[in-house]
Amino acid sequence: MLESVLSVQTGDERHHQCSTTNQLRERVADMFGMEDAVFLPSGSMCNQIAIAVHTKKMGAHDLRKVLKAWFIREAETLVTNRTRYFADCLDVEPSKIQLRQYRAMWGRCNSRHEIAHDWRIVMAPDPVIDYLVIHELCHLAYFDHSPHFWRLVGSLQPTYEESKAWLRSNAHWIKQTFEGC
Ligand SMILES: [Zn+2]
Repeated sequence: MLESVLSVQTGDERHHQCSTTNQLRERVADMFGMEDAVFLPSGSMCNQIAIAVHTKKMGAHDLRKVLKAWFIREAETLVTNRTRYFADCLDVEPSKIQLRQYRAMWGRCNSRHEIAHDWRIVMAPDPVIDYLVIHELCHLAYFDHSPHFWRLVGSLQPTYEESKAWLRSNAHWIKQTFEGC
């Protein structure tokens, strides 16, 4: 089993870069004679959706609500943990960590040291989530985008320009996901 895990091909399944997940989906769809299958990352999420779909109680809108609630719960854990981790590295202390849904912004930090993030950042790759967390935390030290600020960001994530580029190319689908839900 360990050998299989070590040799498996990985990638971003949402962008069809993970052939292993795609093969698994095709195989399951074939087994059940269905058009397609979906990979769900948690057991409870899978059970909840499967029961609702098979008892035909859930339409597309309800399904989106279940997925949204699941993503928000994941974001609460992930964003809070990553914020605590990087806050320790920077020796800063945010007074509050919140999740919001912003139309254009990814996050914000105010003069009361309250930090808020768009919960949908949880759909981004880990280094991008880290970049957004680091960005807002660095505003506790520099309340601007001065060279000092960017030097501090770079001290924790030297490749932050790649994260910024990823956000520029992918903002459209992240911001559209769950819009109006
Ligand atoms: Zn900023």
